[in-house]
Amino acid sequence: MTRRRIGVMGGTFDPIHHGHLVAASEVQHWFDLDEVVFVPTGDPWQKAGRDVTPAEHRYLMTVIATASNPRFTVSRVDIDRPGRTYTVDTLRDLRAAMPDAELFFITGADALADIFTWRDAEELFALAQFVGCTRPGYEMDAATLASIPADRVTMIEIPALAISSTDCRLRRERGEPVWYLVPDGVVQYLTKHDLYPAGETGPTGAA
Ligand code: ATP
Ligand code: MG
Repeated sequence: MTRRRIGVMGGTFDPIHHGHLVAASEVQHWFDLDEVVFVPTGDPWQKAGRDVTPAEHRYLMTVIATASNPRFTVSRVDIDRPGRTYTVDTLRDLRAAMPDAELFFITGADALADIFTWRDAEELFALAQFVGCTRPGYEMDAATLASIPADRVTMIEIPALAISSTDCRLRRERGEPVWYLVPDGVVQYLTKHDLYPAGETGPTGAA
């Protein structure tokens, strides 16, 4: 029996946008993956001093954004696990649920550059192959690239989309459109639940 090839796209998805979806779609295609599992992070994680939107909203937006793609699914493992989200726990849980699968963890270049600051970095490489996607504004420096085990990480170039969740939130807070940066259903969800309301002044830092 051939092993199932499963992509894992972790993120805060606050909100999910077309940069995330293009990265997942490109890796699904080029690595011939059977499925890409989107895994929204749990609640207590604080990004650069900013309170993230409640997990259920981020989870539902991820479901809406991925629903039309038969190869995309969404997992609650990080949302349902108490405490901070660490990628090593995500991969351990998915490995336990799918013991025979080959896992491919998908990241943007910014997240991959931070990888050695992640908990149990060595174990991460044992649990999954890593696929780093190009992202406008983030270059991997040579020292970081050289320190990553070459047989466990592949860098791929994807169509450049200079979209970030931080920018989407700021746009909403300034009363500017996010149409075409995020899927239509996500725009409608943001409006329905008045997420990132206009005029809100709070820290909106990225991570
Ligand atoms: P924030 O601005 O809140 O940090 P973000 O846009 O960086 O949000 P995350 O949820 O932090 O989104 O990212 C999840 C994963 O998607 C990370 O690995 C990140 O590098 C990757 N990613 C996000 N946006 C892009 C993009 N435009 N192109 C390629 N990869 C991306
Ligand atoms: Mg980010």
